[in-house]
Amino acid sequence: MSVEPLSADFTAAGQVTVDDMPRLVKEGYTAILCLRPDDEEPEQPKAAEIAAAAEAAGLQFGLLPMRSSERPHEDMLRRLQNIINDLKGDDAKARIYAYCRSGGRVRIAYDLLRALPGRKHVAAHKFDVVIVGGGSGGIATAASLIKRRPELTIAVIEPAAAHYYQPAWTLVGGGAYSKHATKRTEASVMPKDVNWVHHAVTAFRPENDTILLEDETEISYKALVVATGLRLNFDAIPGLEETLGKNGVTSNYRYDLAPYTWELVQGLKAGKAIFTQPPAPFKCAGAPQKAVYLSCDAWAKRRVNDAISVEFDVAGPALFGVKDFVPVLMSYIQRYKVDLQLNSKLVHVDGDAKTATFERQVAGKTEIVTQQFDMLHVVPPQSAPKVVRESALANAEGYLAVDPQTLQHITFKNVFGVGDVIGTSNAKTAAAARKQAPIIAENLLATMDSRDLPYIYDGYGGCPLTVENGKVVLAEFGYGGKLMPSFPKWIINGFKPSRVAWTLKKYGLPFIYWNAMLKGREIMLGLKRR
Ligand code: FAD
Repeated sequence: MSVEPLSADFTAAGQVTVDDMPRLVKEGYTAILCLRPDDEEPEQPKAAEIAAAAEAAGLQFGLLPMRSSERPHEDMLRRLQNIINDLKGDDAKARIYAYCRSGGRVRIAYDLLRALPGRKHVAAHKFDVVIVGGGSGGIATAASLIKRRPELTIAVIEPAAAHYYQPAWTLVGGGAYSKHATKRTEASVMPKDVNWVHHAVTAFRPENDTILLEDETEISYKALVVATGLRLNFDAIPGLEETLGKNGVTSNYRYDLAPYTWELVQGLKAGKAIFTQPPAPFKCAGAPQKAVYLSCDAWAKRRVNDAISVEFDVAGPALFGVKDFVPVLMSYIQRYKVDLQLNSKLVHVDGDAKTATFERQVAGKTEIVTQQFDMLHVVPPQSAPKVVRESALANAEGYLAVDPQTLQHITFKNVFGVGDVIGTSNAKTAAAARKQAPIIAENLLATMDSRDLPYIYDGYGGCPLTVENGKVVLAEFGYGGKLMPSFPKWIINGFKPSRVAWTLKKYGLPFIYWNAMLKGREIMLGLKRR
């Protein structure tokens, strides 16, 4: 049987049998990919049999039947790329064993894949616009740009193979959403005609309009958009990282851990549950307390709430940054009998002993308090990624130094920033990025054309606070805490828990995210001209 490694993580081979699976596991493969239709030959094992044997051996399985007589067209190659990305996931050690009858079809498909438009452009190392980060803000900006000017060459630089709808992770942790529905392949969200460069950026060189990739490739641009989001610094709290996902320690801030939150909530019948909120800024100002409310609601519904004491440790001095929303949120803190500890910062976790240590500011003094827990939900401290922090693009705090209204870099005028990484005072939410993306598209194109910047950002951010399973307090506000409701009060009153707002959070906003925001369909934005 012909076997040919085409790269370190991809091998082309002839037909496999179910008996080959244990050997392939031993050889370090993590996935089997079948490119052969069933029934080409009488003795040929069916793909379903191979899939079952692969899964039983702990291997992933992907299938894309290709006829040997046909040259795979571009759509098929893109589907193949998606399957490969899915099989690899975020696993740096992933290795795919791809087979057809003789290995020939795999080799041809692999070569054609490498020649897809995105890869050709990388070889050119030069784009009109480079967007660093293919998360919420990066993809939305790419879509808004290409829609306005289809002739632009745009590259999105993104190392991850998967794209997540993070706002629904709170619902996953509350047992109200499937984690799988929050994940799609990065290839599937990449706008058509935008080149995906599947790498991480390791350095910004704005003085000569270039960036550097991890493989030392230098890419140049006419305009740059920085969209790297925030880094989750679980490692900043000693003892935390090694106990995440066990010993009752969880976080809705990770795709793999959000289901563990719900598992813990369901399993807890009595004891102590502690929830933490880090110093600002962090993604979604309301997400730490959403975890508190949805857990308490589930315990109340199971009538175990009196046996569970709940503590919420907030590193800052207030329950929520915009004071108008505090009364309604405090009413839930009281209803669920939550012990709210302000100015209380998590500094250490001991998973085996099940203790969490806090640094508390009490009457001008610092106290160290160690608490026993049965469940600990942690929201980690967050910062701009190192590559931004250590670049000439950063402000004193390490975030991208942009003008808060135009979102243009204060020094490098061909650089813009979108999403969580920018050093502005708005709430770091996907709702904010949705509004910023078209503004950046307009202002960036104006910069390229040497026109005045036409649009300004008002700091809009939206935070749907899930106060009960079935009810949301929809906090929408801009710079300086200015209230900015999107709906008339009779539809959604932002100061009252609302079932309509829950429906919006659970069904409406994910739909808008995948089908409008990431596609450049700019609905209900009310953009402001300068
Ligand atoms: P991200 O979407 O995080 O994307 C950043 C991308 O940059 C990533 O894909 C990353 O891989 C990439 N990247 C990083 N470094 C590099 C590099 N060196 N080179 C290339 N690429 C790089 N928002 C709401 O609007 N409503 C909510 O209810 C809400 N709830 C939330 C609940 C939770 C639990 C969480 C975690 C977030 C929530 N958010 C909510 C916030 C929202 O998800 C973020 O604000 C939004 O995703 C920010 O978009 P972004 O593009 O800035 O960052």
